[in-house]
Amino acid sequence: MLTLDAAIAWLRGWAAETAAHEQYLTALDAAIGDADHGANLRRGTAAVVAQLDAQPPGGVREALTRAGLTLVSSVGGASGPLFGTLLLRAGAQCGEAEALDGAGLVAALRAGEAGVRDRGRAEPGNKTLLDALVPAIEAMDAAVATGAPLPAAASTAAIAARAGRDATAQLVARRGRASYLGDRSLGSIDPGAASVALLLDALAAALDT
Ligand code: ADP
Ligand code: MG
Ligand code: MG
Repeated sequence: MLTLDAAIAWLRGWAAETAAHEQYLTALDAAIGDADHGANLRRGTAAVVAQLDAQPPGGVREALTRAGLTLVSSVGGASGPLFGTLLLRAGAQCGEAEALDGAGLVAALRAGEAGVRDRGRAEPGNKTLLDALVPAIEAMDAAVATGAPLPAAASTAAIAARAGRDATAQLVARRGRASYLGDRSLGSIDPGAASVALLLDALAAALDT
């Protein structure tokens, strides 16, 4: 179950992963963007952690929606509103549930995905964070449907996110700054997709304890 404690561990773990991989994320963005993705998400996730420290959330919904709002307001780049919307909409989908089971977590992530599609006017195949997020959710959904325990389903999702991240190198960017490059965006991994892989790694780690 994704309990409040697990949700907090997820957000803290994502911040730690992002800080540890800041240079890598920035290098990916230097190739096809403006070299700020690592700094953008490091700043945003650090603000999320500061919020958690200052005011512990009372439930899963509050933890995720507040983190989403913090990302929207603390990151200047495209990724703040997009990752912020992902968490906001996922949190809103939780309602008053004290903890999410596999189906509940898949539903929350699907709501987040829909938010990213709306806000970014993006679809899978556009070489964006959706190209890691969508296969991750599909993999989690399939694992949960076969009765896999949630930690195992989340690990499967994290592996799918990494595969989706790597496959963005084969895509031409259609959204965001990288789209200005046209075919020259081929061969490079999308930075936002790399951040989604970190987000899913953190989720798997938080559920595995
Ligand atoms: P910026 O492009 O404003 O500098 P970042 O570098 O922090 O912002 O984030 C770039 C990432 O945001 C991209 O790699 C991509 O995954 C994601 N992104 C950008 N625009 C969109 C969009 N319209 N829809 C979905 N994702 C997007
Ligand atoms: Mg950038
Ligand atoms: Mg920028």
